[in-house]
Amino acid sequence: MVVLFTENGQRMENGFFRGSTASIETRLCSHGGQQLLELARPRRGRKLVISGDTRPCAALVEAAKDADLLVHEATFSDDEQERALETKHSSGREAGRVAHEARVRRLVLTHVSSRYDVDPSKLLAEAREEFRGQAEVAYDGFAVELPLRD
Ligand SMILES: [Zn+2]
Repeated sequence: MVVLFTENGQRMENGFFRGSTASIETRLCSHGGQQLLELARPRRGRKLVISGDTRPCAALVEAAKDADLLVHEATFSDDEQERALETKHSSGREAGRVAHEARVRRLVLTHVSSRYDVDPSKLLAEAREEFRGQAEVAYDGFAVELPLRD
């Protein structure tokens, strides 16, 4: 049996240890009749991309590729597409399209026009027509938990 004590004194035996910054996997090896700890591997982090105010753009799609979370502005609805162009903002649908193209896991719409404060469901519905992953609209105090993938 391989036993390892981690920095904080936690005892780890054969198998897999999940720490806060890395995961360590132990394997049994043969070495003169003794067993050795063999390997440590880094964990994959989480990727979070925040758009700021913007029209949809290729650089953002590229930056958001495979992100765990994309926070994208969605100021307007389809009905206000001209306003979105004039003011260089995005619609919910456009934010959804960026999320789809970047294949993100989760989309949070923000910078929503005050006319949708009470009911942002129209923006969300339009985003969801483009993006099949989890999509929500942020609100004051909104918090997201991003689980690790492994
Ligand atoms: Zn703005």
